[in-house]
Amino acid sequence: MLYPQEFDVIVVGGGHAGTEAALAAARMGSKTLLLTHNIETLGQMSCNPSIGGIGKGHLVKEVDALGGAMALATDEGGIQFRILNSSKGPAVRATRAQADRILYKAAIRRMLENQPNLWLFQQAVDDLMIEGDRVVGAVTQVGIQFRGRTVVLTAGTFLDGKIHVGLNNYAAGRAGDPPAVSLSARLKELKLPQARLKTGTPPRIDGLSIDYSKCTIQPGDGVAGGMNPDLPVPVFSFMGRAIPHPQQVPCWITHTNERTHDIIRSGFDRSPMFTGKIEGVGPRYCPSVEDKINRFADKDSHQIFLEPEGLTTHEVYPNGISTSLPFDIQYDLVRSMAGMENAHIIRPGYAIEYDYFDPRSLKNSFETKQIQGLFFAGQINGTTGYEEAAAQGLFAGLNAALQCRGEDAWLPRRDEAYLGVLVDDLVTQGVTEPYRMFTSRAEFRLQLREDNADARLTEAGRKMGLVDDARWEAFNRKREAVSRETERLKTTWVNPRNLPPIESERVLGKAIEHEHNLFDLLRRPGVHYDALMAMNDRQHHHADVSRETLGDLHATVVEQVEIAAKYSGYIDRQKIEVERAASYEGLKLPADLDYLQVTALSFEARQKLSQHRPETLGQAARISGITPASISLLLIHLKKGG
Ligand code: FAD
Repeated sequence: MLYPQEFDVIVVGGGHAGTEAALAAARMGSKTLLLTHNIETLGQMSCNPSIGGIGKGHLVKEVDALGGAMALATDEGGIQFRILNSSKGPAVRATRAQADRILYKAAIRRMLENQPNLWLFQQAVDDLMIEGDRVVGAVTQVGIQFRGRTVVLTAGTFLDGKIHVGLNNYAAGRAGDPPAVSLSARLKELKLPQARLKTGTPPRIDGLSIDYSKCTIQPGDGVAGGMNPDLPVPVFSFMGRAIPHPQQVPCWITHTNERTHDIIRSGFDRSPMFTGKIEGVGPRYCPSVEDKINRFADKDSHQIFLEPEGLTTHEVYPNGISTSLPFDIQYDLVRSMAGMENAHIIRPGYAIEYDYFDPRSLKNSFETKQIQGLFFAGQINGTTGYEEAAAQGLFAGLNAALQCRGEDAWLPRRDEAYLGVLVDDLVTQGVTEPYRMFTSRAEFRLQLREDNADARLTEAGRKMGLVDDARWEAFNRKREAVSRETERLKTTWVNPRNLPPIESERVLGKAIEHEHNLFDLLRRPGVHYDALMAMNDRQHHHADVSRETLGDLHATVVEQVEIAAKYSGYIDRQKIEVERAASYEGLKLPADLDYLQVTALSFEARQKLSQHRPETLGQAARISGITPASISLLLIHLKKGG
């Protein structure tokens, strides 16, 4: 049957990429359809019940700055929040939250159901409708044909998914869900370049069977005993505390020991990883416990975090023992750890192998080079992680919507957003293992902070139609308050005549000899905003001006003003570097350039460039093995008229 309505954007898959893609396209006014296996699993966390962390938290904030759902759903479902690296510089500070799976999923589903222009439909997609070199729709398992001008495919770990527990394996998309076999076969038929990756998850434990008295408690921030007990519980969304957090609960820590490691080693001969049953490459940064024991043989203990899965369940996620070892080994290894002597496993750990598609076959907008109107986002592009998936989903969804409007793609640069880094890394370098975000991937990370994701992206989001009125108003209120406060500090002068030396020494480190404005004083190391303001108020004999004028925005504005003052020197220096790189970054490379004929280049460089066919010189520079010297030679070649 041909479904009677036609859509602008059809999104296949209701995971983290698919839900953000569908919400973004619909927010922009595209008539959008989200087709997914099961409405009950919309926004499901396949693995760990947590969102954010270093690099990943930055992506969540960017998704939020563009009006996305992930941060809001985390605020609504978060049962423990922490600011990681809180004692380090602002560029690497990151928010991380434990989420109640059920609350998180419910928040995502509510947002989807209430989003205008968005239709949901439960059914597996088995086929794509293609006319010439353009996708025109998707066909479901029972033969319903949905016509769409664009299709965003976000099938996650489901394409030809195969679960491994020891030497047993079976077809599945993840535990409890069916694989997407027909769709995988169809994509292979279309000759889109594809390979296999794998990822794994730990066994889940019944919390009632854990003896927590033998474990170490780990409370979140804003809670007695936490790292930052005096701070309020952090929030993820720039919309602030619009949605109150649910009850906050602690995590717990236990450890593996020599006996655990012996048990693990005794299962190596039945490990699907070590016996070659699994062909796909796994995430190096999120290794299975058997991989850790094998690779770091000299370590006699690893920390294991016992993370609650929610407020209405006793299920616990033991972070650090992801494994595909046989179940009898899982049983013994879990029970070998302190506090876990009587632990009952509710779900076995497993590894899953699945198809991913080489992201180098995507355009910068995530549209496939081969089939017009077909976009890929999320785990299907070789990444791992909810946050990476959400960011890509939002990106592909908005670009599909822009294509429907006949507008150019939106492509954030590497110095503008982690999203820019993620997209550029994927389309330029491809992946050799599941890709996850790190702050070290961003060469301009001083300006790509969590705290300023809104300043970097919300205006662009508003222009595209991604940002609603409430967010736009909140953003402008903050932006104006920061600018007013910065101006006030730059035009308020402190005169040594009015300031007792003992006072200025206490606050400023040493007495000032001539007049300074407050902004310049704030630049000094060790000078803090609140102490400086108090000193100034005393000098002028008036009450606390900043608190009165900033009101509820006090903390956010102070953060921005302090960072601007303290880091402006470094940020300016980085800007100069960015401009220098940008002078050739965007230079387009001729689509028909025959690199093999550019004999000034080494054979390896010629081969790599013809294989990757970068769109710009900036992308060429980031292909592994392409040296700055090759780039100068290529520039000379182009200047000579190629
Ligand atoms: P998914 O969340 O997988 O969602 C895909 C969606 O598409 C599902 O709703 C599915 O039902 C739907 N779908 C698929 N095919 C079809 C079809 N043909 N028709 C209709 N609907 C379809 N990440 C980490 O960061 N660290 C880890 O250690 C980690 N371990 C993991 C372990 C396991 C076992 C699994 C399964 C995942 C793990 N992940 C891990 C990855 C994390 O779950 C994913 O990165 C993230 O969920 C990807 O989001 P996605 O939207 O791309 O896909």
